[in-house]
Amino acid sequence: MPLRESEAIVLQHYALGEADWLVSFLARTMGRMRGVAAGARRPKSRFGSTLERLSYVRIWFFERENRELVRINQCEMIESFIDAFRDYASSVALSIFSEVTEAVLPEHEASDASFRLLLLAARSVKRTLRPELPLAYFALWSVKLGGWLVRLDRCGRCGNVLLEGATAYFSRGGSGVACPKCRLPAMRAVSPGALALARQVLTERLDRLVENRAGTTSSSARELTDRMLDVIEQQIDRKLKSRELLEQIA
Ligand SMILES: [Zn+2]
Repeated sequence: MPLRESEAIVLQHYALGEADWLVSFLARTMGRMRGVAAGARRPKSRFGSTLERLSYVRIWFFERENRELVRINQCEMIESFIDAFRDYASSVALSIFSEVTEAVLPEHEASDASFRLLLLAARSVKRTLRPELPLAYFALWSVKLGGWLVRLDRCGRCGNVLLEGATAYFSRGGSGVACPKCRLPAMRAVSPGALALARQVLTERLDRLVENRAGTTSSSARELTDRMLDVIEQQIDRKLKSRELLEQIA
């Protein structure tokens, strides 16, 4: 049983037995994994607050033959996000980050791009406590990295270029985009502002987006987030729990 070491981001933890946590984490070099942190719920546990959601940590664990769960041996904090969870809107965004990451990534498949996306988006929320843009950025890139993003520049039905400044229409699960002529009744309108933001998200760095759009309304970010979470929910075939909290934020 070799001891493994990796950078990781904690996604969730669940109570296990009387004193343990079952921890889901994204290891940078090994992908999404689950493990048991024995005694972590005891007061003065050696794990401290390292197993809180989205903690960016260095983790040491043993892989056990023929067992799905690893045994977490030690954890050191690199960066904590606990403070950002105290802001309600930020905590909702951070919860969506962890739930989506857990839902879309297969176990034991390293994805450095997903790791970097999660860390980048979480840091942006923590730094600004303005989660709208980081959330839209995270949702769109999660769809893109999942291989589920349709072309946003052409109508999927007639092939015509979607004109800048015109409304486009998304099929329910986001599997296609249509121009006003080809729209079907069940499709959802996407405003020109949200489409323009989508194009920016795909080509610009998050910190630059946040900087340049500071003070503008967040409705297009919210709209883009909603359409992308539709795609994700369609792909994972269930509703995201954390999304209900987002719907309560006006
Ligand atoms: Zn068309």
